[in-house]
This record gives sequence, C-alpha cells and structure tokens, in this order.
Amino acid sequence: MRKDYTMNQGGTIWFTGLSGAGKTTIARLVELELRALGQKVEVLDGDIVRTNLCKDLGFSKEDRERNIQRIGFVCQRLSRNGIVAIVAAISPYREAREEVREKIGHFIEVYCKCPLEVLINRDTKGFYRKALEGTILNFTGISDPYEEPLSPELVLETDKETPRCCAEKVLEKVKQNGYLNLYQNGLKACQSW
Ligand code: ADP
Repeated sequence: MRKDYTMNQGGTIWFTGLSGAGKTTIARLVELELRALGQKVEVLDGDIVRTNLCKDLGFSKEDRERNIQRIGFVCQRLSRNGIVAIVAAISPYREAREEVREKIGHFIEVYCKCPLEVLINRDTKGFYRKALEGTILNFTGISDPYEEPLSPELVLETDKETPRCCAEKVLEKVKQNGYLNLYQNGLKACQSW
C-alpha cells in the first residue's frame, strides 16, 4: 500500500483540567476541524456524559474514577474502530487517567492549565462562586483535589493563548502521532475563531 494512502487510525484526545479551563471550547474546535478533514469524531463531554451514561454517579473519589473508567471504555471501543474520541472531562485523578491511557493505547493527554485565580474570575458557569460560598461541595480545585498530569503529551496555558491557538497545537500533536495524515497546518474549518 502506498504510504500516502494510509488509512487514518482512531485514537483518543483526552482533555483534563479544572472547570472552566477551556476543555470543551478547545475540544469543539478540534472536533470541527477533524470533521472538516473527513475524520470520524465523537466528543464525550463530561457535563453531557454525567446526564446520561453516568447519571447514577456523584462526585466522591470512587464515583469520579468510575466516571473516567466508563468514558475510557467507550473511547477504547471508538478508537479501535478508526474514530477519534475527544474527551473533555475534569478527570482529576492521575491514576484513573493513566489506567485509561493504558487500555486505550492511542492516547493524547492534553492538560488545559489555567491558574485558579483566573478561573475564579472567569467563572463562566457560576460554579466557583457557589463552591467558595460552600453551596456546591466537593468542587475540584476548591474543595476537592486535582492532580496535575506529570507528563501529558500537551500542556495548553489557556490564560495565555487563544482557543484557536490551543486547538492548532492539539491538531499538530494529532498529526505528529500519526492518527491523521490529512492535517496541513492552520485551522480551515474555524476561520471565524
Ligand atoms: P471547561 O470545559 O474546561 O469547563 P469551557 O470550555 O466550558 O471550560 O469554558 C472555558 C471558558 O474560557 C470559555 O468561556 C472560553 O471562551 C474561555 N477561554 C478563554 N481563553 C480560552 C482558551 N485559550 N481556551 C479555551 N477557553 C478559553
């Protein structure tokens, strides 16, 4: 088979980071671009997953781990069928992330890094105010732990870079990892960003 006709292979792009750090925003940009390139993509957004697949789970350490295991299971099935699974979930525990990484194989961990003060200021969903007041309990970064990745494939400093720039870095990483042979450079589908 000629090299330039190599089939795209699936894989998982796993965005981790505190609430409001930009996981969903960047994941959706990457999704748009990959779709425009003809890649099959599925986004598993933590907020959405928790309203269906993981409706029964709460926010204890055990439930958070189960949440990640279930998302990881779905990703593994999608990835092995040539689909790029994109996860946007806080996924605060390092060990749980490492476990899914091992099961999935083709795995790109993207850490959306943003200082807590900036997130408290951004507070797009109003969660930080409530967590600081104590109306929301077990809130990651305020009253629950977040374990930073030690060696993620990519760190995006979302207080310093634009969403577009962050998405470009992810796509470049996807290309380097050989999941796609189509990406040229620069976003095509997201001109308005
Ligand atoms: P999360 O999914 O991590 O909870 P969201 O993507 O829902 O975060 O929200 C992030 C917010 O921060 C959005 O309002 C987005 O416009 C803003 N933002 C500012 N800079 C960035 C950036 N570089 N990357 C992603 N989001 C950013």
